[in-house]
Amino acid sequence: MASTEPRPAQTAHAARYDLHTHSVFSDGTTRPADIAQEVAASGLAGFALTDHDTIDGWDEARDASRLHRVEFLPGIEITTKFGGQSRHLLAYGIDPSADELFEELAEVRTSRLGRAREMVRRIAADYAITWEAVVGADDRTIGRPHIADALVTAGYFADRGTAFQRVLHPGTPYYIGTYAIDTVHTIHMVRAAGGVAVLAHPAAERQRGPVTPTDLTALYEAGLFGVELEHPEHRRDWLPTLEHTARELGLVVTGSSDYHGAGKSNRLGEHSSSRAVFDRIRESVATPE
Ligand code: AMP
Ligand code: FE
Ligand code: FE
Ligand code: ZN
Repeated sequence: MASTEPRPAQTAHAARYDLHTHSVFSDGTTRPADIAQEVAASGLAGFALTDHDTIDGWDEARDASRLHRVEFLPGIEITTKFGGQSRHLLAYGIDPSADELFEELAEVRTSRLGRAREMVRRIAADYAITWEAVVGADDRTIGRPHIADALVTAGYFADRGTAFQRVLHPGTPYYIGTYAIDTVHTIHMVRAAGGVAVLAHPAAERQRGPVTPTDLTALYEAGLFGVELEHPEHRRDWLPTLEHTARELGLVVTGSSDYHGAGKSNRLGEHSSSRAVFDRIRESVATPE
């Protein structure tokens, strides 16, 4: 017999969490405090800040999250490579005093600076931009989006996306790679730092191909905790194989927006994760908030 009891409000408005966001501490355009405010305004229950190769935004995000009464999960997106391919690894709840990991991250950030400087030197032969305009005044993880912003400000392109298409993608003579940590080694360091590692956007369309079942299995064996299967830049036709492998391995599956403020069209919360997933991550890490 069907129950006549009203369904609790919780069912209609189940708590959702955006587990992948960027601030001005890397290549987002929003301050961490403003992301927390936007999270509250959009009706999400909480978020993770996952700036590229830095945790410098954590304190501001944590304080603002208390103010706006949303839950905060400290995170980072690490520049790694596996089998010669660039792979971004999200890490949650790492201990900020984990020396080995943060020494490696310092190396990644130093390499990013040198590489961006050389790319700007090449680009400046054809476009009137300066290193000062790219590097900016703040201490943030420098990437190609900051070169894109300088090109947009100088009036060459309408937005970051167009600057990437025309000047910044790996097929151009201006492109230079950057140091990335081996993905398996990164997973080991994240675990040693009390965190959990989640493979970011494994089916992003800008990649040459999706992460293969063989590679996903190897990363699982190295200690991978989860995989971000819902992401705005995923190619739908690449997903079924990944979903199948993730289910077979018992990986935690997350969804996130990869919000970059005005730097990308991704909208905050356009993909998200459940409270069960959020709690599972928090219960598994050294620095849960
Ligand atoms: P980098 O870390 O310097 O190699 O630059 C990669 C970053 O650029 C990624 O984190 C993306 O957020 C961003 N990105 C890549 N393609 C685009 C695009 N078409 N439009 C805007 N941002 C992009
Ligand atoms: Fe980015
Ligand atoms: Fe990424
Ligand atoms: Zn990202």
